[in-house]
Amino acid sequence: MGCELIDGKELAKSVYRDLRQKTAELREKGIIPGLTVIIVGEDPASLTYVASKEKRAAKLGYNSKVIRMPERTTQSELCAVIDELNRDDSVDGILVQLPLPRHLNKYDVIKHIAPEKDVDGFHVVNSGALVAGLPGFIPCTPKGIIRLIDHAGVRIEGKHAVVIGRSLIVGKPAAMLLLERNATVTVCHSKTVDLKSYTRTADILVAAVGIPGFVTGDMIKPGATVIDVGIKRLGDELRGDVVFDEAVNVAGHLTPVPGGVGPMTIAMLMENTYIAALERRGKA
Ligand code: NAD
Repeated sequence: MGCELIDGKELAKSVYRDLRQKTAELREKGIIPGLTVIIVGEDPASLTYVASKEKRAAKLGYNSKVIRMPERTTQSELCAVIDELNRDDSVDGILVQLPLPRHLNKYDVIKHIAPEKDVDGFHVVNSGALVAGLPGFIPCTPKGIIRLIDHAGVRIEGKHAVVIGRSLIVGKPAAMLLLERNATVTVCHSKTVDLKSYTRTADILVAAVGIPGFVTGDMIKPGATVIDVGIKRLGDELRGDVVFDEAVNVAGHLTPVPGGVGPMTIAMLMENTYIAALERRGKA
């Protein structure tokens, strides 16, 4: 039984092809999807992520802007900028790059974004909608995870899905989406006792921990679908949470790092921005 790699790069390309076409149609109606990313401070990883979001949005024909604010920015200065973007009709999506400097409260900042422009899906209105099973913006990484599983042709319904990690950004929304698709879901975290006893029974295993090599081959059920969300830079290399060389001998499907979840996260951000433009301005 061989392991099939799930190619996030290729899947992201097909999302972009579709979005380019749909964006061209919107532009014919005089609507240009607008994405504004705010970055506070000089965190090198964040600067790289923001640059790739800016480039990708521009490539799709969006109105792509980045607002760079200094590390010393206060909460009220940041919220004033968000207020202005909330009022600006040409802006469909507002994204505040995380992490923020420590003196800023990310929950208060995110709460400031108009929910209909919250393309990251972190506003309580959108996370509440996800829990309630109502329409709203779905966070990009978990949305990408579900697309990758579907793309691999793996049925989610009735499966035991184990998510390691319970963050607002990945773990919790991924668990909710899997539940919405009728999986039986177990959420594991840093206080879980005997983690392996859960992961060994997972038909679908989502690892979102942030510790390279955390998931070893003996933690994986033979034939399982393994989604490696973790990204850590070690020297020149990007490492996932899963020991690839071991997992590839046990899993039925596996996402590589890089080239798995990462490309799909940006693709889903672009899709959410298109949806925001369509919902706000494209239906008339
Ligand atoms: P986080 O630090 O907020 O959450 C990590 C989670 O891991 C926590 O919920 C914690 O309970 C759990 N954890 C920590 N130690 C554990 C242990 N010993 N046993 C079991 N669980 C443990 O991180 P996050 O924002 O959820 O991101 C997780 C990883 O995913 C990071 O590497 C991050 O860089 C990566 N990430 C990747 C993408 C992407 O696009 N590929 C997007 C977002 C996050």
